[in-house]
Amino acid sequence: MIRYHAAWILPISEPPIRDGWFAVDRGRVVALGAAGKRVLSDGAQVVNLGDVAVLPGLVNAHTHLELSYLRDEVPPASRFVTWVRGVMNARRARPDPSGKEILDAVDGALREAVACGTAIVGDISNTLVTFEPLTRSSLAAVVFYELIAFNTPDPEGVVAHACREIEELVPTERVRASLGAHAPYSVSPLVLRAIRQAIGRDPFAPCSIHVSESAEEVEFIRNGGGPWRVLLEELGSWDPAWVPPGGTSVQFLDDSGFLDGRVLAVHGVHMTTADLDRLVAHGTTLVTCPRSNGHTGAGAPPIEDFYNYGVKVAIGTDSLASSPDLNVFAELATLRALAPTVSAPALLDSATRQGARALGFDADYGTIEPGKLARLLAVSVPADTEDVEEYLVSGIEPDQIRWIGEP
Ligand SMILES: [Zn+2]
Repeated sequence: MIRYHAAWILPISEPPIRDGWFAVDRGRVVALGAAGKRVLSDGAQVVNLGDVAVLPGLVNAHTHLELSYLRDEVPPASRFVTWVRGVMNARRARPDPSGKEILDAVDGALREAVACGTAIVGDISNTLVTFEPLTRSSLAAVVFYELIAFNTPDPEGVVAHACREIEELVPTERVRASLGAHAPYSVSPLVLRAIRQAIGRDPFAPCSIHVSESAEEVEFIRNGGGPWRVLLEELGSWDPAWVPPGGTSVQFLDDSGFLDGRVLAVHGVHMTTADLDRLVAHGTTLVTCPRSNGHTGAGAPPIEDFYNYGVKVAIGTDSLASSPDLNVFAELATLRALAPTVSAPALLDSATRQGARALGFDADYGTIEPGKLARLLAVSVPADTEDVEEYLVSGIEPDQIRWIGEP
């Protein structure tokens, strides 16, 4: 057993402990407390970590690791569909038949995520190419096999085929795969229904979908027109039989029976307060990625509303095609700037416990509590730090971060 002492411990499940300690045995936390109180005296090896804040490894609840090779390749846009066209151009400009460029970039992204203090990722993949690299990494992950199928003659066949591909993967204790839908404007109602039914067969499977990301989505769902309709027609993906649902994307997904406590609804930039009420009613987790929203032209998400309405909020960086890095601490600093009235403890809770719960890893991750894995970070903090939670949401660089138990 090793007993660690540190200037600050942030269990997340309780307020920060100043001059605290925690004990680790066989990779799991067995006890913690304040140094002034009774400390386990059992001959444990004692390690003094000094001026650091110890907190659970962070959760990046939404990224697309397979797009890492497009880092710095897609320029910022003032409209979302312009950014989507930029991704399509960047892909065309860099065909990668061997897949080597994509896989090398995935490996680099995994190293970067770990160096930035990430313990778990919610990874969106259209190819499942990230699954095997993730199993070789120290990360825990759910890989969401994301379907894009607006106009298909065989919606159930599309989903059944995806399920078979997932079944062929060998999950590990830490890395699992599930299904995701791209968005209400790129997945037909019947494919959404088939995904829903497939997910329903597994009581623990989470599901992901991009929702209310852009003004173009709002327009398309409301009246079937606008730049998104034009793009679908250009791509030959428009379905003339499709009837615009009217209302909002959240209303449409709710009426389709898609929303529940296992869904990660990503972005929500253009959600109405009535939409937020629906997420609360279903226990759906909203994953916010504000740096990506700025880059893609989607706009600034109403983060204060998310928290004020009581939505469960997790945090993602989105992909390196729309975000400068995979540092969740940097994402936290952007949330802090956009939402000055949201408390630092609430933001840290989103980056740890909420993400771990949404992805189904809360038995082992997300807080520092007896029984949980000691997958913990030591972040260097100035010796005179008074408000450690505020400091941790002010922007932490990788060179301030060490993993407990690693040199
Ligand atoms: Zn995304």
